[in-house]
Amino acid sequence: MTTLREAVALFLEAKRLQQQNNTQKETEKMDEKQYMEEIKRTMNYEIDLDQRLSMLALGLAGEVGEIVDHIKKAVYHGHEIDHVELGKEFGDVMWYFYNLMDDLGVDPDIVRFLNVEKLRRRYPEGFSEEASQNREE
Ligand SMILES: [Mg+2]
Repeated sequence: MTTLREAVALFLEAKRLQQQNNTQKETEKMDEKQYMEEIKRTMNYEIDLDQRLSMLALGLAGEVGEIVDHIKKAVYHGHEIDHVELGKEFGDVMWYFYNLMDDLGVDPDIVRFLNVEKLRRRYPEGFSEEASQNREE
């Protein structure tokens, strides 16, 4: 198990090594375009769209389940959360999620906009139980 402190130390050490290897560019925050290029590189485009959609939806559900399992083990079995392993699972979720949006032609910018717009309408003053119970949709 890796504690949060150990995970941060590992991250900082990895970042230091990258800088030392003169790959400073790689340590910069990855934008969505770069991320899409990376994940599309490992997508299997030899299978047809229906197969990809099915594979991506199943894979997404499976990876969300892996995150759920980490939480279950922490809450009910007393495990420490391994933030590095959990981070890898979030990465797996992102891989499926972004590839699924890409194959469906869904623009992540529009998704973010629609989500924020819905939440502002639903919770104009921020979350409250009253607003949640009386929301229109
Ligand atoms: Mg996984």
